[in-house]
Amino acid sequence: MFILLRPGCAPEDRARILRAVEEAGLAVQVSEGHHRIVIGVVGEEDLLRGVALETFPGVESVIRLRPPYRLAARETHAEDSIVSVGRTRIGGGNLAVIAGPCAVEEEEQFLASALAVKAAGANLLRGGAYKPRTSPYDFRGLGEPGLAILRSVSRAVGLPVVTEAMDTRHLDRVAEHADMLQIGTRNMQNYALLEAAGRARLPVLLKRGRACTVSEWLCAAEYLLDAGNPSVVLCERGLVSFDPAVRNHLDLSCVPLVKRLSHLPIVVDPSHGTGRRDLVSAMARAAVAAGADGVMLEVHPRPEQALSDAQQAILPEELEALVPELRAIQEILRRNPVGIV
Ligand code: PEP
Ligand code: MN
Repeated sequence: MFILLRPGCAPEDRARILRAVEEAGLAVQVSEGHHRIVIGVVGEEDLLRGVALETFPGVESVIRLRPPYRLAARETHAEDSIVSVGRTRIGGGNLAVIAGPCAVEEEEQFLASALAVKAAGANLLRGGAYKPRTSPYDFRGLGEPGLAILRSVSRAVGLPVVTEAMDTRHLDRVAEHADMLQIGTRNMQNYALLEAAGRARLPVLLKRGRACTVSEWLCAAEYLLDAGNPSVVLCERGLVSFDPAVRNHLDLSCVPLVKRLSHLPIVVDPSHGTGRRDLVSAMARAAVAAGADGVMLEVHPRPEQALSDAQQAILPEELEALVPELRAIQEILRRNPVGIV
């Protein structure tokens, strides 16, 4: 940590700052320049957590060197984490292809989707029983009956399933029927839900808040890890955009950035990330090229009949064409790892 003093900081103010740091058990190194004085703090900066140094007279600014998350940080865990969901492994050079419809609509639709995505090469099934919708009059999911369909279809086709838990009240029920819990973009900063999911014994897919920084996202992951759940996968799904041409602005630069900052696997959802079926495959390829550990894709056998997010669902045939391309791109990266991280 560095404490930058204001020009002309009074000697008694400077002495008070030094005393506060030393009383917390840390050493100081004072550098006096021509115009400014910088105090270098040597030691565990967490010891100063309760000391609001910014409020001390004479302090211009405080530069903290440690990120506000710990367990999620690459510096505390150098190796890439690998998260297992059933027999599917996410991270460590495995390509996760998470696919399925936006929502579980009824058994026949979900079974047809599941069989189609499995045949196309998906290794994880998706589908929402509880759907967060902007308008309360839109289809909000089947709820509990949807969970039962999820479970029976997942068993029938032999793919583990990820589904969203929107609320602490439903979390246990969702956890009984799912292999992986999804925390959606709107709930990334719902700390009660994060704590509950952190206590669950299931891996968690944590979507990035639609207007959240990478640091806030990693702090949200920290809640899960801190509550005792080591199995966290991050999912970039697009940020609010000023341009109505796309539903969201997919931030692919966050992929190599997250790889640098964290050991957690990261997947990308270009379906919500663009909101347009014609852009999904290109952005999925770009995501894997950027170093993502997988993709999450909305696939529907009859998009024109989908009850939610019809405009961004790709067809099973498109997934089938895409999966070998993604594998080929990942293979290129495996052979040329320089420059990814
Ligand atoms: C979803 O995956 O269906 C979903 C609602 O995603 P998001 O939270 O990213 O909008
Ligand atoms: Mn959706």
